[in-house]
Amino acid sequence: MRAAVMHGAGDVRIENVPDARPIEPTDALVVVSRGCICGSDLWPYRTMEHSDTGRRMGHEAIGVVEAVGADVRTMKAGDVVVMPFAYSDGTCVFCREGLHTSCIHGGFFGAGDGDGAQAEAVRVPQADGTLVVLPVGADDALVPSLLTLSDVMGTGHHAAVAAEVGPGKAVAVVGDGAVGLCGVIAARRLGAERIIILGRHPERIALAREFGATDVVSERGDEAVERVRELTDGLGVHSVLECVGLEQSMLTAIGITRAGGAVGRVGVPQDETMPASQPAFYDNITVSGGPAPVRAYIEELLPDILDGRIEPGRVFDRAVRLDEVPDGYRAMNDREAIKVMVEP
Ligand SMILES: [Zn+2]
Repeated sequence: MRAAVMHGAGDVRIENVPDARPIEPTDALVVVSRGCICGSDLWPYRTMEHSDTGRRMGHEAIGVVEAVGADVRTMKAGDVVVMPFAYSDGTCVFCREGLHTSCIHGGFFGAGDGDGAQAEAVRVPQADGTLVVLPVGADDALVPSLLTLSDVMGTGHHAAVAAEVGPGKAVAVVGDGAVGLCGVIAARRLGAERIIILGRHPERIALAREFGATDVVSERGDEAVERVRELTDGLGVHSVLECVGLEQSMLTAIGITRAGGAVGRVGVPQDETMPASQPAFYDNITVSGGPAPVRAYIEELLPDILDGRIEPGRVFDRAVRLDEVPDGYRAMNDREAIKVMVEP
């Protein structure tokens, strides 16, 4: 079968790889009907050292179950399923606490210990705990929005939960990528009264407004901090969704949080130490977050998508065939596209 393999910075190739197949009795084989390129795929795309063997890519998918191992109970061949970016058994101590990304028997797709989903098919370990059967066909109009349950919608929601968003609160979202835009949806869904998006790209800003952003701050750095404080009587916001992961974005996030507020960070930190640790300390700011246990959120978010209350699939502004995936990476890296859907 064909799959995307990254061999180094800027070097993504579509190659023939061994066919995916169930190995363990708890596995499922899923034929991918829609995959994605993720903002987090751009970190290795910019920095990866050359590798002859390369790394399989992709961790988001909707697909059709082709075969299941002998122990799989909750799905059968022909079912349409959504695949979270991490696999998990659904039964261990962490899964029962809703922290599926720390599953004792879990792991991550497209990260060395699992298949990649930018491919024709993917082997899904712990199928019963990982996959969720969807009540729609593989070509349903809701598929783009359902596909965001693999990662970006669940991740935006996680940022909002970690930032303690709630009714009446003032919220800011740092980052206008797909996760930040989904964070706007999540903040509105959780009752935020005011949602400030920090970004400057006109199309992303327009979408953020349609998703519920009430204010836009296009300044950067200290000027952005000043502008958010102006908008909030000098106090800052209760909740900040940090959806980038760079030193500057974290400095901004802490700088615009009011005393006693919270930052929910879901951008993979590119620093080992936490920027703005002292201001966070003196203002009693909670800093929380991490890789989103998106599996834990699917049951909560799914009805809102099925009923049309939220439309996170609007973050996809380009679709490519598997052969065109290398150009999809280029387009996202050049910020030509917000998020690219892959139709193998
Ligand atoms: Zn588990």
